[in-house]
Amino acid sequence: MASMDQYDVIIIGSGIVGGTLACALGRSGLRVALVEAREPDIRIGTDPRVYAITRASEQIFRSLEVWDAIAAQPVCAFTDMEVWDAGSDGVLHFDCAELAVPWLGHIIEPGIMLAALQDRLQTLDGVDLYCPSLFAEIDCVADRVVVTLEDGRSLSAPLLAAADGARSPVRERLGIEVRRHDYHQTSLAARVHTALPHMNTAWQRFLPGGPLAFLPLADGWSSIVWTLPEDDVERIESLDQDAFHAALANAFDHRLGDIVDSGPRKTWPLVRQHAVHYVQERVALLGDAAHAIHPLAGQGVNLGLLDAAVLAGVVLEARAGNRDTGSLHTLRRYERWRRSDNQLMMTAMDGINRLFSNVNLPAGRLRGAGLSLVGLTAPVRHALMRHAMGLAGDLPALARPQ
Ligand SMILES: Cc1cc2nc3c(=O)[nH]c(=O)nc-3n(C[C@H](O)[C@H](O)[C@H](O)COP(=O)(O)OP(=O)(O)OC[C@H]3O[C@@H](n4cnc5c(N)ncnc54)[C@H](O)[C@@H]3O)c2cc1C
Repeated sequence: MASMDQYDVIIIGSGIVGGTLACALGRSGLRVALVEAREPDIRIGTDPRVYAITRASEQIFRSLEVWDAIAAQPVCAFTDMEVWDAGSDGVLHFDCAELAVPWLGHIIEPGIMLAALQDRLQTLDGVDLYCPSLFAEIDCVADRVVVTLEDGRSLSAPLLAAADGARSPVRERLGIEVRRHDYHQTSLAARVHTALPHMNTAWQRFLPGGPLAFLPLADGWSSIVWTLPEDDVERIESLDQDAFHAALANAFDHRLGDIVDSGPRKTWPLVRQHAVHYVQERVALLGDAAHAIHPLAGQGVNLGLLDAAVLAGVVLEARAGNRDTGSLHTLRRYERWRRSDNQLMMTAMDGINRLFSNVNLPAGRLRGAGLSLVGLTAPVRHALMRHAMGLAGDLPALARPQ
C-alpha cells in the first residue's frame, strides 16, 4: 500500500483565497497540504482584470506578512470613489479625507497577490505545495478525510478546505447543492488610457445594461469593467479600436475625456451562485467555491479573504482547545458567521443591479433622489464608506488593525 502523508489541513485550490488560508494556518505551525491544479498565472502589468482590494483585505495581508511584497509592486491606492447614474442626475462621492484615512482601498492585479502569497508560503516549513496536481478520490474515513491524488499519492487530515473556485470540483464531487442565478450579463475588462488623469478615483457609472467602472492603475492607465447585456457583448467586443474607444467614452459620459489607447479585451459571463451549505463533516467551502457574486462592488475576492480569515480563526481556536478541527460542530461556527454576511452582500448587489437597470421614469427619479440624499447625509455616507472599505460588521482577528 502507498504511504499516506498526514496533515492538519488539506486545502484544494491555491488561488488568492486558498493561498491566504494556507498562510494563515501555516504561520501558526499547522501542517498544510496545498493542492493546486495549475501553475499560477503571474502576469504583472498586462492583466486586463484587476481587483479592488478593501482595507480589511489589506489588513489580512498585513497580518500574514504578505502586504509589503504586494505594496512593493505597481499597485494603485484610490482615495476617492464617484458613482453616478445615466438615468437620473444623482451622484455619490466618497473621499478618504472625510474619514481621516489615507486611502479607501487599492487596485491590484491578481498576479501580484498570487506571487506575494507564493513567496510567503515558501518561507513556511509546514506547508507542502502539490502543483500541478489533481485529486482523484475524496473519502471520509473515521475522523479523517483522505485525498488520493491522480498520481497515486494519498494525503490525510481531519479537515479538507475547498478553495477551488466557482466550478469547485470538490463541491461537485461531494454533491453540495448551489443556488444559481444567471444575470444574462457579461463583464468586459480591458486596460485603457484616457486623455484626462484618473485622479486616483474609482469611477462607476450605472447604465441600463449594467455598471461601467474605471479603476485607476499605478501607470496612469485605468482598468475598465463594463457590464453589458449578454446579447450586446459580442458586438462591443468585436468593435475595431477607434469604434470601441468612441463607444466607451460615450458610455462613460466622456468623464475622463477621450480614450486614447487600450489593451486586449476579455469577457466573463456573470452568475450569482451560493452553496446551500458551506460545511459538512470534515469539509469547508470558501471563496468562489462557496459564493460567486456580481462584480459591481468589486467584493468577490474580498469576501473570500474574510472567509479564509474566519475559517483560520475557528480552526486555530478549536485546536488550542483540543477540539476536533473538522467536526461539524467546529465548522458550523464558520458557516454561521460567513454565510449570512455573504448572503447580505449578494442581496444588496442584486437590489442595486436591478434598481439601476430599471429604465422607467419613477425608478430613475427614485434613484436620483436616493443618491443625492445619501450624498447629503454624512452618517449614511460614512456607513457606506465603511462597507466599501470592508470595515463594517464583525471582523475576524486577522482583519482587525493591530
Ligand atoms: C469581471 C470580474 C471582475 C471582478 N472584480 C473583482 C474586484 O474588483 N474585487 C474583488 O474582490 N473581486 C472581483 N471579482 C471576483 C474575483 O474574481 C473572485 O471572487 C476570485 O477570483 C475568487 O478567488 P478564489 O481563490 O476563491 O477562486 P479562484 O481564483 O477561481 O481560484 C481557484 C483555484 O483553484 C484551482 N483549482 C480548480 N480546480 C482544482 C482542482 N480540481 N484541484 C486543484 N486545484 C483546483 C484553480 O486552478 C485556481 O487556482 C471579479 C470577478 C469578475 C468576473
